[in-house]
Amino acid sequence: MTCDFAVRLEAVWSRIRAAEARFQRPPGSVRLLAVSKTQPATAIAAAAAAGQYCFGENYLRETLDKMAALAVQGMALEWHFIGPIQANKTRAIAERFAWVHSVDRLKIAERLNAQRPNHLPPLNICLQINISHEPSKHGLEESELPAAARAMAMLPRIRLRGLMAIPAPTLEFAAQRQSFAQVRHLQERLIAAGLQLDVLSMGMSNDLEAAIAEGSTLVRIGAALFGPRA
Ligand SMILES: *Cc1c(COP(=O)(O)O)cnc(C)c1O
Repeated sequence: MTCDFAVRLEAVWSRIRAAEARFQRPPGSVRLLAVSKTQPATAIAAAAAAGQYCFGENYLRETLDKMAALAVQGMALEWHFIGPIQANKTRAIAERFAWVHSVDRLKIAERLNAQRPNHLPPLNICLQINISHEPSKHGLEESELPAAARAMAMLPRIRLRGLMAIPAPTLEFAAQRQSFAQVRHLQERLIAAGLQLDVLSMGMSNDLEAAIAEGSTLVRIGAALFGPRA
């Protein structure tokens, strides 16, 4: 297990470094988030033993169980919530996570802001954009973005770091790039309007190169690290 993970981790880092070089991104400008949804706590412990400390999770209950199982081992892990957020789950998310990538409406940001404990640093958030306009997909529509981002940037207990998107899956590189370029343009417009944003959370196992080509600073990788999900 550990060995498998270490081999996959090195392969993913090779892809990241190759993409940084190919698309003139500074070396080390892309962070790797390991998406550990549905993986047992033992897999996370093995990943940490291989040097991976940041984990993305989609389901709150499952994550709390894994956090409890891993707490005994005393590892300093950084937890990122990346799944759909129901309003009744915001308190636990605000208390237990360092990052939330899937904030898709102001109401959720306001709840996270109100519920972030004072002894913790502000919660890092990314605003999720519905880039492919799929009705089934979560995420804010482009037209709502500027006002929502401005309002979120003023909340003191959260820190709006940038945008997140999950484009409609395609294996065609040019189409992947086009979707990610849209996200980058939206981010650039917010920055031009005065917001301080430094994170573009985009790219998964099948499209990380296209995401890095378009400025991703954080790729969220599941299958390529842990193997295909059941
Ligand atoms: C599952 C998931 C990922 C990882 O996808 P892979 O294709 O397994 O790399 C990334 N981001 C989000 C939001 C996810 O739900």
